[in-house]
Amino acid sequence: MSLAALLGGPPIRATPFAARRTMGEAERAAVLEVLDADLLSGFVGAPGPLFLGGPKVRQFEADWARQYGFTHAVSVNSLTSGLITALGALGLEPGDEVICSPYTMSASATCALFYGAVPVFADIDPESFCLDPRSVASRFTARTRAMVVVHLFGHPADMEALLALARPRGIAVVEDAAQAPGARIDGVPVGSFGDIGGFSLNCHKHIHTGEGGMLVTQDDRLAERCRLIRNHGENLTDDLPSSELVNLIGQNYRLTELQAAIGIEQLKRLEGYLEHRNQLAAYLIQRLEGLPGLHPPQVPGHLRHAYYVFPIRYDAQAVGLSRELFTRAVLAELPAARGIGHTPLTQGYVRPLYLSPLYQQRIALGSQGFPFTHRPDVTHVYPPGLCPVAERLHARELLLCPLVREPLTTADLEDLARAMEKVLDQADALRRAFPDT
Ligand SMILES: *Cc1c(COP(=O)(O)O)cnc(C)c1O
Repeated sequence: MSLAALLGGPPIRATPFAARRTMGEAERAAVLEVLDADLLSGFVGAPGPLFLGGPKVRQFEADWARQYGFTHAVSVNSLTSGLITALGALGLEPGDEVICSPYTMSASATCALFYGAVPVFADIDPESFCLDPRSVASRFTARTRAMVVVHLFGHPADMEALLALARPRGIAVVEDAAQAPGARIDGVPVGSFGDIGGFSLNCHKHIHTGEGGMLVTQDDRLAERCRLIRNHGENLTDDLPSSELVNLIGQNYRLTELQAAIGIEQLKRLEGYLEHRNQLAAYLIQRLEGLPGLHPPQVPGHLRHAYYVFPIRYDAQAVGLSRELFTRAVLAELPAARGIGHTPLTQGYVRPLYLSPLYQQRIALGSQGFPFTHRPDVTHVYPPGLCPVAERLHARELLLCPLVREPLTTADLEDLARAMEKVLDQADALRRAFPDT
């Protein structure tokens, strides 16, 4: 085997990995049709048929609901606004507590703050990277009203255990399935287990409309409340009893006809993407299983992973290299990435959310610390060490690989596996050459 590239040898591969190409002829034709019709949004924030949006928005929602068996699908202009909508629909109040994962995109927790509710972080499971039911169980108080369950990286969370905790306590469950459209548990799509589920359609996700999101629910009343919050609900509540007015101050979270037209075509591609990603993942898992110190996802047979990214747990002791040096050495074997999010291997995901100034200084709405200081009995603090598994994974153990995607092939992943093998093989020489990394 040749010398490691980081030590001056030839790299395993020089040709760039093929870029993801998301838009095709179908999307182009769909957009032109909307332009020709000259109706870029069909929404009106007042009573009447246009309250529910234009023909493309309504078709996109109907298609999504049908494809995955949801009773209702409600499109929104992002999943950030979708999560705010979902918690509003559930009737969250100032002072309520919402159990959240610390290891996720920030909006999975900030959605609570918009209602004056307080995120309470539970730790994650080191195999699934999703909320650990045992940690969740330790976080309940009399004020716990909801939990936001994230299917991180496309791995379905343990919904059975989480629902068994939530249901008897009357705690609402929102599924943040931004990274897991089409992921399944026992054949049932994620998003259908909790009270409301949500998918993101931003341009980094499996399928996208530039920006956008989709909420799903089986509950007629929650669907109606989501539609009201999405589109200036205060104008449509004349006939509602006062008990139903809570949180129905509307927003403008509406998707355009252009986005919906693209979304209709994107949705048709999703199942193919998931099959492809699962085939690539199976190949990479089988290649990594023989390598020391690299722990690929263990996905039980009753789950279908969506592989938004491919996580690998790294054991520095077993490899004999720091995660930093291993990553640098593998990247040196591979072509330079073209653009953000394309680096073939990265360390960690996002800093555990509670370590950001928002939670450390407890300043959210206004300058007086609302909602963290709203009630004397709301005393949440967010000390480092709060969620040790998330902190450990982030600081030392997690590697992410974004190469399990269209249009790459097993030959591309073979190059990645060979780059890793080569670095493992020359760990001693690398450690001697870079003793401080
Ligand atoms: C992308 C993402 C969101 C937010 O989605 P947007 O549509 O970008 O607002 C929320 N949660 C998770 C886990 C995500 O990955």
